[in-house]
Amino acid sequence: MVIVMQRGSTEQQIQQVIDRLIGDGFDVHRSTGVERTVLGVVGGKIVDHRDYELLEGVKEVIRITQPYKLASRTFRQEGTIVQVGEVQIGGNLVVMMAGPCTVENRDQINAAAEAVSKVGVRILRGGAFKPRTSPHSFQGLGEEGLKLLHDTARRRGMYVVSEIMDFTQIPMFLKYADILQVGARNMQNFSLLKELGKIQRPVLLKRGMAATIEELLLAADYIMTGGNHQVILCERGIRTFESYTRNTLDLSAIPVVKKLSHLPIIVDPSHGTGRRDKVAPMARAAVAAGADGLLVEVHPEPDKALCDGAQSLLPEQFEQLMGELKLIAAAVHRTID
Ligand code: PEP
Ligand code: MN
Repeated sequence: MVIVMQRGSTEQQIQQVIDRLIGDGFDVHRSTGVERTVLGVVGGKIVDHRDYELLEGVKEVIRITQPYKLASRTFRQEGTIVQVGEVQIGGNLVVMMAGPCTVENRDQINAAAEAVSKVGVRILRGGAFKPRTSPHSFQGLGEEGLKLLHDTARRRGMYVVSEIMDFTQIPMFLKYADILQVGARNMQNFSLLKELGKIQRPVLLKRGMAATIEELLLAADYIMTGGNHQVILCERGIRTFESYTRNTLDLSAIPVVKKLSHLPIIVDPSHGTGRRDKVAPMARAAVAAGADGLLVEVHPEPDKALCDGAQSLLPEQFEQLMGELKLIAAAVHRTID
């Protein structure tokens, strides 16, 4: 960090700051100008830079390194590729993950899987444990739902992504899910993140609805610190004052994350907008902006869906979208199967 002293700060104040920094294990490089003194500070332990802002004579403290380490591009220059079977996430392919919000019954998940696999999707989504805002809403089929999802996917040579809500569910999820999704509401469930760090299975980490990109990357660090580096980030919209959409889909997070981190980032335009007619435009924009994949809700009969019907695409809408996405992917030198 760089500490800029106030104009007119006394020699004693400057020395006190230097002594404190050295005491905290830092190397300090002092630059004494005509008007003010600037201290370049390197090494030392991770600190709360605000502590130094409070010292007498300090004008401002500027952080120059990022607080996240393992998720940072400084830690790894080249992009990480997360391997799910033979599907690579983070490479040239824009990876499609699609399916219903929640697994409802065998016929429904089968019809959804058929619709999306027909147009090349290899990763089937479906929630079995649903983090519903209301305790009175459908909570998911639980393990039975995971089983249905897994069987349906495997019969079609597909992989499974499903949301885990609690660390006690990890052994169960390892039986059925190829990618463990951490939902927006759980992005800072640190005990869950730490336990997910101890397994070797890809994790899809969604951005919290009030989380900054830095907080998302720190959440990824929680998982990676345990040794599991197979993390896929997901932008799914954040809460703003806008009310015409369910969330505000922050597509600028894609280029921002690409610069700061080596981890792949995908986009969920379904939760990002909350309305079926807004999903395709934002999906197209996400691919144009460099997303490594998309997570899209598709339901065979959205009007009868137990969860998120309004934001679920009809199979024919999804098919049309896939055709459009292929053209856009080609324009940005990517491919979609
Ligand atoms: C979901 O993918 O079904 C879901 C609940 O998403 P989020 O955590 O982004 O709200
Ligand atoms: Mn949903």
